[in-house]
Amino acid sequence: MDFAPTEDQRILRDAVERFMRLECPPEKVRQWDNEGLFPEPLHAAMADAGFFSMMVPVEYGGMGSPMADCVVLFEEVSRPSVDFGTRIALQAWGALILADFASEEIKGEILPEVAGGRAKLSFSLTEPQSGSDAAALATRARRDGDDWLISGQKLFSSGADAANNKMIVAVRTGKGASRHQGISLFLVPNDAPGVTLRKLDVIGRRVLGLNEVFFDDVRIPSRYLIGEEGRAWEYIGRHLERERITLAANYLGSARSALDDAVRYAKEREQFGHPIAKFQAIAHMLADMATELEAGRWLTQMAAWRYDRGLPCRKEASMAKLFVSEMLQKVTAQGMQILGGHAYTKDHDMQRYWRDARNATVGGGTSQVQRQLIARELGL
Ligand SMILES: Cc1cc2nc3c(=O)[nH]c(=O)nc-3n(C[C@H](O)[C@H](O)[C@H](O)COP(=O)(O)OP(=O)(O)OC[C@H]3O[C@@H](n4cnc5c(N)ncnc54)[C@H](O)[C@@H]3O)c2cc1C
Repeated sequence: MDFAPTEDQRILRDAVERFMRLECPPEKVRQWDNEGLFPEPLHAAMADAGFFSMMVPVEYGGMGSPMADCVVLFEEVSRPSVDFGTRIALQAWGALILADFASEEIKGEILPEVAGGRAKLSFSLTEPQSGSDAAALATRARRDGDDWLISGQKLFSSGADAANNKMIVAVRTGKGASRHQGISLFLVPNDAPGVTLRKLDVIGRRVLGLNEVFFDDVRIPSRYLIGEEGRAWEYIGRHLERERITLAANYLGSARSALDDAVRYAKEREQFGHPIAKFQAIAHMLADMATELEAGRWLTQMAAWRYDRGLPCRKEASMAKLFVSEMLQKVTAQGMQILGGHAYTKDHDMQRYWRDARNATVGGGTSQVQRQLIARELGL
């Protein structure tokens, strides 16, 4: 295994870093966090830069980049805010589900639009009564002539309210031998008649935002059924591996920003006549933060390396997500400690990294669920 960055990855990292510095200055990101707003001009600029096309297959207008390169993109994009990485990840996750399982007609219709950023995608699995136990979902679809009618409710759908967004929605379409059967995926435009969105008032991840989505007999044509009826659990399984690797990459970016801010502050802030970085307690805290961040990066790259080679990576994807999300919470909490009382004001971004990090061990499968999955892979 050789995880040394390639020349292309170095060029990509520099280019994305420059783009984010120009397009997402700290004062703008603070404003978007306060307002709960993902600005459309930023989305358009990301599209022009090709960020949405990296994971879309070449035959549908994308670049078909390997996961190892995408990890670099996600980490850099997430440095100003993890929500920027999540926006790109939503496009990538949705595009790959469609590329793997949708009909040629739908792939030709939707994927070039997603790659170009003209269409957006989001993913709705969670419901009020089904979180970790996702297969307990109760939203239903029933046939009506050539169409399907969807009724029910989804919760915590990231970015579902964006303009020109299509939601990939998991619903129950029938009974199978087990409750993991009989679940199907549909593409549902967020402005379809019968869809109502309610933005949630949340403490973090405010730039992209979370939504409750209500479906009241929403009529969807059969061609918007993704793959085969009743097989969505299998499709979601493959999706979750990708989701976990990309989430880990996003969290690396946020952790780096927290570490950089903490190091800078520790060098500048003087107490007892010395920069606080000179106190061993602070220096060692920073040393631990840097070490765990680096360990998280290697774990993420290892999972991406396996994914790119078609090797089993369920365990490694869960390990990366588990370790990096817990590392992010630790690093942002230590960052808050290093900035002392000043961390408590919105003049510093540390509080936003810390608020946003709160979700890292929950979204995409909680830490408890990741440990269960890893234990299962160990034959326990
Ligand atoms: C910011 C954010 C963004 C999100 N984005 C999306 C999205 O875009 N699309 C989407 O579909 N969902 C999304 N989610 C939902 C997320 O995936 C769920 O919150 C998560 O799966 C946990 O479900 P829950 O919140 O219902 O918690 P629960 O499942 O009710 O869990 C509560 C607690 O019980 C523990 N627990 C549950 N089962 C077990 C078990 N078997 N063993 C041990 N402990 C257990 C959990 O680990 C947790 O600590 C998002 C959530 C957040 C906060």
